[in-house]
Parts: sequence; structure tokens; C-alpha cells
Amino acid sequence: MSLGIYLHTPFCVSKCPYCDFYSTTTFSEDDLDRYTQALICEIRRWGNTLQQSADTLYFGGGTPSLLGGNRLALLIETVRQSFSLSSSAEITLEANPADKLADVFSAFAAAGGNRLSLGMQTADDTLLKLLGRRHTVAQTERTVAAAHKAGIHNLSLDLMLGIAGQTPTHVKHAVERCANLDATHVSAYLLKLEDGTPYALSPPTDLPNEDETVFLYHSAAQSLESYGFFQYEISNFAKIGFESRHNLKYWNSEPYVGIGPAAHSFLDGKRFYYPRSLSAFFRGESPIEENPTDTAIPENSPEEFAMLRLRLTNGLTEQDFRVRFGSVIPTVWRERAAALPSSLIIADSTGIRLTRDGFLVSDAILSRLL
Ligand code: SF4
Repeated sequence: MSLGIYLHTPFCVSKCPYCDFYSTTTFSEDDLDRYTQALICEIRRWGNTLQQSADTLYFGGGTPSLLGGNRLALLIETVRQSFSLSSSAEITLEANPADKLADVFSAFAAAGGNRLSLGMQTADDTLLKLLGRRHTVAQTERTVAAAHKAGIHNLSLDLMLGIAGQTPTHVKHAVERCANLDATHVSAYLLKLEDGTPYALSPPTDLPNEDETVFLYHSAAQSLESYGFFQYEISNFAKIGFESRHNLKYWNSEPYVGIGPAAHSFLDGKRFYYPRSLSAFFRGESPIEENPTDTAIPENSPEEFAMLRLRLTNGLTEQDFRVRFGSVIPTVWRERAAALPSSLIIADSTGIRLTRDGFLVSDAILSRLL
């Protein structure tokens, strides 16, 4: 099975107050060069060790577009050589709409890059300011135009749900902008107060309550559907054929290699992660294997497989479970699903899946089910 390759870029111009992804705002051009070289060493090392091909490459962060066109092209070429990257590979770049990216997009596209993921978040400048974002709505539109001009038409836009003061009208307007910008994919995430972030320490006033958040989520989903984006995962919607091939590997328990500080890998049924430290990465510290006893659900177990599959609208199917484990879905899971309201979870002859209302309380359902 072909691998997915994830390359993490741990640099951002400024830190958004809700974000807990690993990144630093203190860096120079020399650091970007040094980091690119460190990534290249690790890509080659993994390539030599695994001797496997890859069919997706994802530049995530942080803000990978800060690497610039030449470094991105160099990294794509290194992955191509080390993992026989297929000619039809999905190659995604996350980018911040605040930056001038026309040249970056041209170089990325020339090197084979074919998908962009932009952190649009909302189509309202006041809400963007409240979120601590550096960009405006006009900058998102300019960035999308630059992507199209560079020949990149597979475009994913991130939307945030649950911003202080956000109303269903804001959400519908944002979805309409996504459709008008010819997005092929929309990720609509609920704002979470992640431990250790400024938002968690001092949450903004006027955050939507639970009922309001549920309403925002349904508004987003219905509005996205009305523009032809079908839901395939808790937070992800796509035009037909434009689901994220890379992210589907995570939910389908397929193998992937993540390189860079805090990046995770899943190989031969084992999970690894690099230490959450740029200096440790520069020192060449190896990834650490996750200790199965540290997690409530053991890695590569039927429970973990079910937990990931139940994020998808297709859910956990009998067919996929049989292919993976050679048996039917455990009866006890079906009994527990049957004991929960059918407005949240459905168990039928094809398998078990959550409804949209179920997605909103998926953690609670999974802990009851598994
Ligand atoms: S730009 Fe993205 S990765 Fe960087 S701090 Fe903001 S949300 Fe996090």
C-alpha cells in the first residue's frame, strides 16, 4: 500500500491565540534553510529504510508556505526520489492568506504541487480580528486568485465555527464565499479551547453556548450541501471526487510517515512521533514509539480502527472490518449502539455509523460504544 508523507513546518509569523499546533514565531531565513536541509536528511533516511512508494504528500504546519517556492520544490523532488512519488500523487500545501504567495504558488505548481489548503476561517473581517488572524477577507480572495492563476484549482478552505459573536448568517455567508471562490473542499472546524493556549487561559466573552454551536454546525453543513459539498467526515466536506486523499489515510488506518517536530507516523501497526521541539529535530533526535499503555485505546486494535472509521460518514462497515480483522463487528458494539438513540447512531446490516447529531457528541458515544 502506498504511503502518505506529511512534512511539518514549525514556523508562523504570529501565533493565533486558539492554536496549539507546534510552531515558533522566532526564525530567520537561515533557519528556513537549515530546517529544509534537516527535512531532506530525514526524508532520505526514511526512504532508504522503508523502500516504499508514496501517493500523497502534505505540507502542514505551522505555515509551510513560509518556506518559499524553491525550498518547497526541493522538498517535493527529494520525496519524489526517496519514495517514487506517483505521477498522480496529491501534493497539498497549507498557506496563510495574509502572505503574498503568487511566486510560491507558481514554483509549487511547477514542481508538481496540485492542491492548496487555505486558512480562510470566516468571511467577516471583524471576526477574523477577534480570532487574532493576520489576514482579511480581501486577502483570501487575492490568494485564491493567485492559486488559480498558477494553475492550482484543487482548493480546500478552512472555516471556523464557534467564534465569539458568530451567527448562522455569518456561517452561511462564509460558505457562499467558499462556493464563489470555486473551492473543491471545505473543512469546517469547531473552535476548541485547547489546553495551554491563550484562549483556554482567558476565553473570549460572547462565545456561543452549546446549543448555539450545534446550530452553527448544522447551518454550515446544510449550507455546504446546498452548494454541492457533501460531508464525508465530522468536519470535512468535498465536491465529488475531491475528498482529501491524504487525510483519508489517517481515518482509514493506512500507513503514513510524518517528518518534523511533533509530526506523527503510523507504520506496520505502530505509531511514532518526533519530539515537540525544533532543537531536538535539529539535533537529529529520533521519533519515539507511542507506548500502548499510555493510551486508553491500544494502537492498531479493532477499537482504534472503529474510533477512526466512525469519524467518517460511511462509518465502520462490516466489509472493511472483515477485511482488516477477519471477523464481523463485535456483537457487543452493536448492542451498545442499539441502546443509544437512533438520532445519534445507526447500526444496520452494512455496519455502524454516526449521524450528524452523533458527530457533535462523538467522544461520548465512542466511550460508551468501545
Ligand atoms: S497560522 Fe495556523 S499554525 Fe500558525 S498559529 Fe495560526 S492557526 Fe496555528
